[in-house]
Amino acid sequence: MDGLNKSMYEIGSDSAFTILARSQELEKKGNFVINLGIGQPDFPTPQNVVNAAIKALKDGHHGYTSSNGIKELRIAVADNFYKRNNVEIEPDNILITPGGKSVIFYTLLMFGEPGAEIITPDPGFIAYKSMIDYTGARAVSLPHRMENDFSFDADELISLINDKTKLIILNSPANPTGGVVSEIELKKLAEGLLKFPKVYILSDEIYSRILFDNHKHLSPLQFKEIRDRVIVLDGWSKTYSMTGWRLGFGIYPKKIFGFAEKLAINSHSCVNSAAQFAGIEALTGDQKPVDDMINEFKKRRNFLVSELNKIENIKCKIPGGAFYVFPKIKKENMDSVEISKYLLEKKFIATVPGSSFGKNGEGFLRVSYASTIENLEKFIFCLKDFMNE
Ligand code: PMP
Repeated sequence: MDGLNKSMYEIGSDSAFTILARSQELEKKGNFVINLGIGQPDFPTPQNVVNAAIKALKDGHHGYTSSNGIKELRIAVADNFYKRNNVEIEPDNILITPGGKSVIFYTLLMFGEPGAEIITPDPGFIAYKSMIDYTGARAVSLPHRMENDFSFDADELISLINDKTKLIILNSPANPTGGVVSEIELKKLAEGLLKFPKVYILSDEIYSRILFDNHKHLSPLQFKEIRDRVIVLDGWSKTYSMTGWRLGFGIYPKKIFGFAEKLAINSHSCVNSAAQFAGIEALTGDQKPVDDMINEFKKRRNFLVSELNKIENIKCKIPGGAFYVFPKIKKENMDSVEISKYLLEKKFIATVPGSSFGKNGEGFLRVSYASTIENLEKFIFCLKDFMNE
């Protein structure tokens, strides 16, 4: 022990970043690594958005902004949310944050404490569990099964609620599976929650624009009966290829907004001012780059799913959204960590082991298709090779 508080020893990390660091090391040694590990679009931020940031800097927007974000940006977020979800949001209930992750961090600091229980997707984005553990709350796994298209079963979810349950985390479309929640289950959940009026929902909608086929985004905020206890997380990272800009937002119910804002004031103060101006342009400007990106993702998804299912001992569902596939891979005497490690060290292909997203992820691999078709072809070639070894 080196004098830090006990909670620090509970906090986890994100293996996608560890794998990225190892990929970079291998590249420095002269290897060509195909990176299907990290979750970021392989497209540049649209030029009109970059120009808006440049203009903001030239116009002298160099200082702090209000801690919840500039008003024009919060109005643009509210308008955009209304257009997409038909739900009116007060701009004053929107907190602009340095990336969507801060909304997870702040929300879990607000709800987590020893003795509390928080229901979280399994497999699910690892930051949820890391932060739940950090707060001392108990993370309760909500299985998202392959046979259920990686969505949840509302009856099962309701059965996990007890008087210690403070928060339910939902994520649709999901990381790492690309699974999309069905309207029926979400409706059932909203009805079921009437019996538990103190339980909140954190709905992580960071992939909500990246949907394929007939899937439509549904936010729990659309259900009036629970609207006063739904927190929404979204942002610009994925939709507008802006991961490095660090721009996201949280929509908080009025009665708890002030607490989230205090956490913001005491940590990041406000988000980079030029990035906020870029965020307005992203939401209100030309959406063609986003549509083009989604079309390209769809082509890659179709290619990958069809090729993966041709390989013996691999099964892959067709995901409804995001830019990941989550194939089940059976290889004798190897778990998902060993398979992912082997692919990186021997074939120079970065993926993320399914088990790093929770115990229900064991046996799977997360493959991001935010990479070119040529790279995906090479991946399939190497994977076939590996499966035959
Ligand atoms: N939620 C999920 C499910 C994600 O996959 C990510 C990014 N990997 C985030 C939130 C955080 O996004 P940001 O980069 O905006 O912090």
